[in-house]
Amino acid sequence: MVHTPIKTTKSQEIFATAQNLMPGGVSSPVRAFKSVGGQPIVFDRVQGPYIWDVDGNQYIDYVGTWGPAICGHAHPEVIAALHEALKKGTSFGAPSALENVLAEMVIDAVPSIEMVRFVNSGTEACMAVLRLLRAFTQRDKIIKFEGCYHGHADMFLVKAGSGVATLGLPDSPGVPKSATSNTLTAPFNDLEAVKALFAENRDEIGGVILEPIVGNAGFIPPDAGFLEGLRELTHEHGALLVFDEVMTGFRIAYGGVQEKFGVTPDLTTLGKVIGGGLPVGAYGGRRDIMSMIAPAGPVYQAGTLSGNPLAMTAGIKTLELLQKPGTYEYLDQVTKKLADGLLQIAKETGHEACGGQISGMFGLFFTSGPVHNYEDAKKSDTAKFGRFHRGMLERGVYLAPSQFEAGFTSLAHTEADIEQTLAVARDVMSSI
Ligand SMILES: *Cc1c(COP(=O)(O)O)cnc(C)c1O
Repeated sequence: MVHTPIKTTKSQEIFATAQNLMPGGVSSPVRAFKSVGGQPIVFDRVQGPYIWDVDGNQYIDYVGTWGPAICGHAHPEVIAALHEALKKGTSFGAPSALENVLAEMVIDAVPSIEMVRFVNSGTEACMAVLRLLRAFTQRDKIIKFEGCYHGHADMFLVKAGSGVATLGLPDSPGVPKSATSNTLTAPFNDLEAVKALFAENRDEIGGVILEPIVGNAGFIPPDAGFLEGLRELTHEHGALLVFDEVMTGFRIAYGGVQEKFGVTPDLTTLGKVIGGGLPVGAYGGRRDIMSMIAPAGPVYQAGTLSGNPLAMTAGIKTLELLQKPGTYEYLDQVTKKLADGLLQIAKETGHEACGGQISGMFGLFFTSGPVHNYEDAKKSDTAKFGRFHRGMLERGVYLAPSQFEAGFTSLAHTEADIEQTLAVARDVMSSI
């Protein structure tokens, strides 16, 4: 394949200006490309599986605005629904029937959810669920897993994966020790470590929170029996099990990882897909627990824009599109073709690599593997990933700018898009 470098003059100009105006030139750290090197491209518009940058270059996108674009960017039916909703205003700050519609859809879909509360981001959902968990169990300690990300709230910024891992910050300055002193950590897929923590902290652990399939340390699925083991251990110790399905909810299956793997947590957090590209988060679970939230109960949590009609509309339409028969079969099929293809090409071009895929979520590590946890993931050749990322970008494929992020496909990605991506990958892997 002949490769002529793309022109990114406008991207460079805009990003240079941005760096003067906003810390690092971005509104969220990973976007700055620090871990892969080089300059980020500045987006102009998105449609289906594609992105166009401000210089007019087109890319096949495997980030999907970090997950929400599961139906493809700017799906015409989502955009049309938003146009209609806009005519009625942008925010009510009062009850609307739209909230009932999305709440019912979420409750019908997600096995653990009997009641739901809408918020504005995944971070907010995880913060709120932790307060609720502590109030319900009257215990302060929690267990999280190394490499799992649950948003940027203080108590979760311990071994928190992608964004933090990428910058090499073990923690963040500004987080007081007191905020994380009740956050215990264990390696993912290590039931023995969790057992030991329960034994050492008898009757003190309120719950266990995890990404049931990790996406924020690269793509790491649970080993057989891991989720079931956590379910048993939490039961045994009177603790709650929380699945953070902000990334995996409505992506791995319509009912999330809990439906796919048949393990039902007590509480679940959602975000990304359920907002259809607008800012949304949600948390839900057992009715007896959720009834503790204000104003039904004493646990305070609120939000000016929560349940906002535009976000509800985009979410409702996105979930409607996902309900069509064959959705998850199609996502699995195209993503498998991509993930298998990438591994095969890596092998043929002499690179150590491992990876995998479930439904529309995939990963590729430049290490021989296998990767069961964050320690394993960190053995990846991140410098090589940087060269791979840059090579793909320059040839029209946009991958997440970090070795420690999962990739996402959408219903808009065609077999032809995947084939083109694989042809590009072969070219790049032969040259790095
Ligand atoms: C993205 C993500 C969050 C945080 O959601 P925001 O909307 O970015 O605040 C929390 N948990 C998981 C698993 C995520 O992937």
